[in-house]
Amino acid sequence: MTKIGLEIHCQLTNLESKLFCSCKANYREFQINENICPVCMGLPGSLPRLNQEAVKKGTMIAMALNCTTPDKIAFFRKNYFYPDLPKNFQITQLNIYGDTSIGGAGSIMVGDKKIRITRIQLEEDPGRLIYEGSSTKNQITLVDYNRAGTPLVEIVTEPDFENPKQVREFLNILSDLLENLAVADPSLEGAMRADANVSIEGGNKVEIKNIGSFHDLEKAVHFEITRQNSLHSRDITITQETRHWDDKRKITISSRSKEEELDYRYFLEGDIPWVKIDSEIQEKLKSKMPESISSKKERYISKYNIPSQVADVLSSDKFYSDLFDESHTENNAKEIANIITTDLMGLVDTREKLEKSKITATHLRDLADSIQSGKISRNSAKNALYEIVKTGNDLSQVISELDLGNVSDESELTGIIREIISEESQAVEQAKSNPQTINYLVGKVMQKTKGKADPKLTLDLLKKQIG
Ligand SMILES: [Zn+2]
Repeated sequence: MTKIGLEIHCQLTNLESKLFCSCKANYREFQINENICPVCMGLPGSLPRLNQEAVKKGTMIAMALNCTTPDKIAFFRKNYFYPDLPKNFQITQLNIYGDTSIGGAGSIMVGDKKIRITRIQLEEDPGRLIYEGSSTKNQITLVDYNRAGTPLVEIVTEPDFENPKQVREFLNILSDLLENLAVADPSLEGAMRADANVSIEGGNKVEIKNIGSFHDLEKAVHFEITRQNSLHSRDITITQETRHWDDKRKITISSRSKEEELDYRYFLEGDIPWVKIDSEIQEKLKSKMPESISSKKERYISKYNIPSQVADVLSSDKFYSDLFDESHTENNAKEIANIITTDLMGLVDTREKLEKSKITATHLRDLADSIQSGKISRNSAKNALYEIVKTGNDLSQVISELDLGNVSDESELTGIIREIISEESQAVEQAKSNPQTINYLVGKVMQKTKGKADPKLTLDLLKKQIG
């Protein structure tokens, strides 16, 4: 049986500052080596000061993943020498004196499969190496420390995954969960990175390091399973080793260094005291946590009778579920859920467009009400939505500017219907003997009014005219 375990690094991108100093957590907008200070550079005499918000958010993540949460946490120094690590050690967590990392054992369901979480650690990100030069011979390596000290959580799972599909589903659930907790934006470059360990039946465990995105993680796991199966089928031993993910060539390659044997000489970080997170603090944090995705889904189904599939899509995306919760009333909930999941999601398909879109809860409420009162057809509502996303104008303004309102003026509609009746004499005769075929004539009226005729009034008037 194939066994896959993951170590996922998630930056807490929504925090203001780094984990142990007041430099910005959002290092992405800075010039190279501009977002640094003596603390994150580990200069002599500097002392780290723990970011309390990071502890709170880390605890929330642990709770959301059903992990145990210890009543006190400790930090450790992990010593190793690498140019991206200015202090020559990384401040991280380790469960050596009992559970003292931000989260202990937990689990999460991926479909019917239970994935166990081993632990969650709060730690600092190292800096970033930038390689320049065209050939291997002339290559130079530059170091950017802007990222050094950025808060992240490392989520370690048991080797419970059996295939890449489960890995992908887990990552989707995890991304949605982090977004729902408002702790991270998983779509930012480098915000989610991972290591994976993969073994097939009868083979040794292989670690894959350096996977830069969730998208590549699934690919890397898939590649590694295929490689191991191919070796196995030729009776070649699968060596226990560390491999690196080459994201350009999309393959794993054996890494020359024997990093798995490294002795990190962990010791307690004496500059940061143990942090108490007693039950009172934990209860307080729990009460501040946003409603979970599963509870939202349950609410949408039971309260508004929204179909399970629609409720699933709506609840798992924070932006859309917030918009839904702000805009709906008892009467228009189903209509708004429909507008969001069928029209709006198709229109605004990327994060970038989403942030630029000008749609508000009021727009959605107005749209749903106008559809329900027959003021505007579903088809016209779609066009109006497109305009609103672009301009942010009021619905009434959009309707009049684009002339999207339904034709519900009786005399105007009667005139159009008379024209149709004279043009379609054969269909009229048919409708007289077989009332169901009248829909063909309704369709003709719609065609002539570009879908704007009030459907109910059209039918009533047609019936009256045909007699
Ligand atoms: Zn700093």
